[in-house]
This record gives sequence, C-alpha cells and structure tokens, in this order.
Amino acid sequence: MNIHEYQAKALFEACNILVAKGVVIHKLEEIPEALNQISSDRYVVKAQIHAGGRGKGVFVNSLKGGVKIAESKEEASALAREMLGNTLITHQTGPKGRKVNAVYFSELLTIDKEYYLAVLLDSVSSQPVIVVSTEGGMEIEKVAEKTPDKIIKVLIDPSLGLRPFQSRYITYCLGFQGKQASQMSGIINTLYNLFYEKDCSLIEINPLITTLNGDIVALDAKVSFDDNALFRHPDILEMRDLNEENPKEIEASKYSLNYVALDGNIACMVNGAGLAMATMDIIKHYGGNPANFLDIGGGATTQQVTQAFKIILSDSNVKGILVNIFGGIMQCDIIAAGIIEAAKAIKISVPLVVRLEGTNVDIGKKLLEESGIEINSVDSLSEAAKNIIKLVNP
Ligand code: GDP
Ligand code: MN
Repeated sequence: MNIHEYQAKALFEACNILVAKGVVIHKLEEIPEALNQISSDRYVVKAQIHAGGRGKGVFVNSLKGGVKIAESKEEASALAREMLGNTLITHQTGPKGRKVNAVYFSELLTIDKEYYLAVLLDSVSSQPVIVVSTEGGMEIEKVAEKTPDKIIKVLIDPSLGLRPFQSRYITYCLGFQGKQASQMSGIINTLYNLFYEKDCSLIEINPLITTLNGDIVALDAKVSFDDNALFRHPDILEMRDLNEENPKEIEASKYSLNYVALDGNIACMVNGAGLAMATMDIIKHYGGNPANFLDIGGGATTQQVTQAFKIILSDSNVKGILVNIFGGIMQCDIIAAGIIEAAKAIKISVPLVVRLEGTNVDIGKKLLEESGIEINSVDSLSEAAKNIIKLVNP
C-alpha cells in the first residue's frame, strides 16, 4: 500500500524528522484557510498522487508541472485551482495519468544541496538496504544510469539491525561533518526504525536537503507498506486512499484474492504465487500477453472462484482465460466444481482453457467433461499456453 506525500511527512514529523511545513486541501473552499496557516509569502504547490516524477509531469490540459513555486497567496491559490480535479501524467503514472484529489501547500525553503535517501527491501539479498546519493533531485534515475558509483548502498542484516558504524559510514559518504553528521546519523537511524516497525517496503526521500541555516529537511516523501503486514497497523490502514488503487484489485482484496491488473488480453487463474508467475512467463514465452496475475490461494472456495471469474471478466481487454491449478492441498475436483458453479452463475463469454494436475485430477476432469461447459481441457502447461494464445488470436 502506498500513501501520499503529506501523509508520509506526518509520519516523519511524528518521529522528529524535519519537513517543510505544509497543509493539504481536498476542496477548493479549503484553500484560503490552508494558505493562512503557513507563515510564508512564497509557497510550493504540490499535486498529491501516488506516483513520483510530479515535478516533471504534465497535466492532460497541458499545464506543466505537478510541483510549482508560487510567489504569492493569489498565485498559490490559482495553481491549486488548476491542479485539483485535473489529471497529471508522469513517467510513473502511465499515459492515462492520475486524477489529483488533493493538493499540498508547503513553505518554500531555500535549498543549499539536494541528497537522495531511501530504505527499501533488496530482493537479491533479501535484506533491507539503505541507498544514498549526494546527487539527489529530479535527475536521480539518470544518475543511477550514467554514474552508478554516485549511488551508495548499505545492506542491513535484519537480525542485527542498523549498526552505528553503518550510519557513520553513510553519513561520511554523503560528506557531512560535525553537527550535521550527528543530525544525519539520527535521521538514518530513525528512518530504519520506522521502516522496520511499520513493515514498510520503501521509504524514499528525494530530495533530502540542507538549508542555508544548516538544517537537514525532507522536501519530498514516499512511503510504501507491505500489504501482508497491514493487519497489524490499523493506523497505517487508515491512510489508505482507494481513489489511487485499481478498482479490480480492491474488489479482489475483499475476497482475499491476490490479483494484480496487467495490460494483456489473456486472463490467468492460478493457485499459488509461484505457479501464477510461471503461468504468466509461459504465456509470454509463446508470444501472448497476460491480463493479470491472480493467485486464488491454496484453499479457495467456490465463492472465491466465482468472484475471481467476475473480476477477470470485468476487464474488457480479456479475450481468453487460462486456468492452471495444481491440486495439492486443494483438490482438483473441488476446483472443477468451482469452475462449473462459477460458469452457471456468470456467463463466461471468452474461450476457457483449463489445465488441472494433482490430487483427484481424474474426478476433476470428468466433472468438467460432463458439465457441458465449453472448456478446452489440457494436460501440460505449455499446451495450455499455446491453446489459449491460438484461441485469442484466431
Ligand atoms: P517529485 O517530482 O514528484 O519527486 O516531487 P518533489 O516533491 O521532489 O518536487 C520536485 C522538485 O521541486 C524537487 O526535486 C525540488 O527541487 C523542488 N522543490 C520542492 N519543494 C521545494 C522547496 O521548498 N524549495 C525549493 N527551492 N524547491 C523545492
Ligand atoms: Mn521527489
């Protein structure tokens, strides 16, 4: 789950990390009051969407920049009026962009230097990693590509936690000395603790700046959480913004289905995340494009299978469905019964290829054969992928 910049900054403030003072608005009427709360005559006006690259983004009506500097209250107000309800396209939103439902006003700080600081999970070492650079700001992707030596990574063994020499090393790499060095070490410790305690998958500050009076301040904030740990963080779950999430994914989560929308035309229904990945891979391998990732889990019920079909079929791009089930804990006859039940409840209007394997596979196949539903039943995964690709591209 992602949260907005203004929410992430509230989390930072709660653990004493300096942020530029700011106020968020969701409605036009709130603008004057919000601006009065900031004791500054120059403002930064920031569109709040769950995507980065806003500074370089463009609105659909060609207004440039989702992060703008305003020299007066009037200008700040006019910019917010243009942004609110408008759709912002950045390199992270895809071509459709995201509707802006909130605008954040912040005091304008004078930047001495911009740094990059992130804590995230390194999938290769399966450990948290702290990533820093002296080259923070809007060009960080280019820095990573052209001068990767300017990006410093420190792996943290989660059983030992962040050790003092590691935060000293990071601080040294960034060139901080004296009072600023201890401030920076403090920020790194605090962020690592926040990452660990709140089950984050990412905390990113870009830019983290030094101001002219020497303070180290977070000007931007991006925080993401591990969905599987949200049950133990009701305070975090309260910050969820359903406007920013895919409606099909929201629907799937109500039924504990692990569904991720993709942009292909072959829907997949699979049990187990690993098998679901393998299914998407093999579809790609034979030249097709998966419309989704879907893991219905080991013990899916008929209701879950039916809901999964509904969600899959609500995607107008879907031209065929590949069901790939390995009956381990789940038995094939139960899955077959679920498919038949679902087919009775909703009209499956696209070709359906089913590959069943494992416990009670013969009973499952027999059920499908006798059901009278038009099903292309196959034994191997490659056959299943080839068949569904043929059926969607006649
Ligand atoms: P992003 O483009 O979505 O990453 O949005 P940011 O919040 O990082 O803002 C984009 C850029 O605007 C930053 O990289 C800064 O250079 C600039 N910016 C943001 N806030 C301030 C501020 O208070 N003062 C100044 N001078 N620049 C700012
Ligand atoms: Mn940024």
